[in-house]
Amino acid sequence: MLITIKKESGSQVLAQVVETLLSRGLHHCISSTEEGVIIGLEKPPAQDVMEELNGMHCISEMLPIHTPWKLASKAFKKEKTLLTIKGVTIGGAEVVMMAGPCTIESKQQLQSIAKKLAGARVKVFRASAFKPRTSPYSFQGMGAKGLELHKMLQEEHNMLIETEVMDVRDVEMVASHVDIVRIGARNMQNFTLLKEVGACGKPVILKRGIAATVEEWLMSAEYIMAHGNHQVILCERGIRTFENSTRSTLDLSSVAVAQLLTHLPIIVDPSHAAGRRDIIPALSKAAIAVGADGLLIEVHDSPLDAKCDGKQALLPEELTALCIELDKVARAVGRSLQ
Ligand code: PEP
Ligand code: MN
Repeated sequence: MLITIKKESGSQVLAQVVETLLSRGLHHCISSTEEGVIIGLEKPPAQDVMEELNGMHCISEMLPIHTPWKLASKAFKKEKTLLTIKGVTIGGAEVVMMAGPCTIESKQQLQSIAKKLAGARVKVFRASAFKPRTSPYSFQGMGAKGLELHKMLQEEHNMLIETEVMDVRDVEMVASHVDIVRIGARNMQNFTLLKEVGACGKPVILKRGIAATVEEWLMSAEYIMAHGNHQVILCERGIRTFENSTRSTLDLSSVAVAQLLTHLPIIVDPSHAAGRRDIIPALSKAAIAVGADGLLIEVHDSPLDAKCDGKQALLPEELTALCIELDKVARAVGRSLQ
């Protein structure tokens, strides 16, 4: 159940509601945003508590929601969420291109790729400073130094920047350097991290875990929203199946299913699903056709030398050419590329 507190209510009346819930042992989350305060409960409380809450003038609405995800549900918000970040709208009629290297390797590497992508239709420049690697011996990312480089580029090119955050201790620093923070597939159910980005004030790209159901993915979005951050963008990036011709299996049905269940924007990352560059164009077109609001694609100008994921990286000029094709697909389904 979602309890909406009237905007003009002060902290004292809010404390009164909280006290009522606590006295009955009811666990709840307080989602406080600029739009107001919403208290979320797993299910409607007993009749006597309902009556007590009903009598409180600071409550404007008590909405029973029957799915486990509540703030993320269409029952809470029918219309699609549009996130406008420095003039770039995600979730609207225009499909948003997000692209960049897997990881930040050097100032020269980042500058060279960013320059080429800024000339394409890329609105969000991706690059990771913190890398979740399978092997502890693999390159782990440039860390804070990399973030500085990423931020510097934002001032040079007209693109938003995004990056992954892996550690609760880094959330504040990462959020202060980029426009969008990303929770990677491996951390989709790192609930402490989800709570922390719920309080970071920046939009969050939430990747689907490699073995997560759509419902679990939505519940992770709910964690972020329940802790005060409603700016969530879901990202399908492939799941683990028996198929080994691709790194993961891009589950485009999850996009179609999630669109029925949530108002949040949904983007697709064909790069980490495929693990190979040759099928990125086909998967990208399919993602737009199924209704994705954006694409997150890895690009490198020297894939053979890439420190991470070179096999799946497109060249900047390949991405530029792909954008022309993607715009045609977008137009065929009543949209266009931003
Ligand atoms: C990434 O986007 O850099 C990444 C590591 O992807 P994922 O978390 O989907 O594996
Ligand atoms: Mn990668």
